Amino acid sequence: MRLIFLGPPGVGKGTQAQRLSETHKVPKISTGDILREAVQKNTSLGAKAKSFIDAGMLVPDDVVIEMVREGLKEPDCQKGYIMDGFPRTIEQAEALEKMLKETGSIIQQVLNFQLSDEELVRRLSGRRSCPHCQTVYNLAFHPPKQEGACDQCKSLLVQRSDDEPQTILKRLEVYQRQTRPLISYYEGQKLLININAVGSVEDVFERVVSAVQKGKMG
Ligand code: AMP
Repeated sequence: MRLIFLGPPGVGKGTQAQRLSETHKVPKISTGDILREAVQKNTSLGAKAKSFIDAGMLVPDDVVIEMVREGLKEPDCQKGYIMDGFPRTIEQAEALEKMLKETGSIIQQVLNFQLSDEELVRRLSGRRSCPHCQTVYNLAFHPPKQEGACDQCKSLLVQRSDDEPQTILKRLEVYQRQTRPLISYYEGQKLLININAVGSVEDVFERVVSAVQKGKMG
């Protein structure tokens, strides 16, 4: 299973990628998670990325492409993976294609999650996450059992700095300008499957599983 999860920030693709990764035992490569962890650990990658993330902008292509190149070499990725949040520009998509060609592998499906801007803003504003185990919650429709604490590891939940109102608007604008063109790019390659992201995590997950099943048969 080699999939790309595409869509605007806040659409829930990370949550869905996490679920599919658990149920289908496939590793998830989330560039956002890798970058946030680097920032937290104060590595040189984190130092390079922090100002871009905080401003709601994309980290430069060469940095992210190199990160993914390294990730794909991991032994657990040899049988498949779910890419969450990568590629996000045409340049990244072209670089990925080149990397895969070198290893004789291909992307099988690109799931494009769709939701209105209004709902995206609502979801991003309510998002809280665990800085320790990265579990993501939403105050409106997927709250933690105990207010402010992670269900898994009990750490104190935080709001991502880039989920503040001004940065949310910037990220949506960046998505429109830099990431949205990937929809036609993958449509052209006949890899795109649209996923309606309205509804509960469970509702959307059913659509994801059904799309993946259909993809396997087709
Ligand atoms: P995410 O968790 O996927 O919403 O990513 C959070 C932030 O990390 C983004 O707003 C970007 O600043 C950065 N980021 C994540 N993935 C990428 C990518 N593929 N290319 C460039 N920047 C990225």
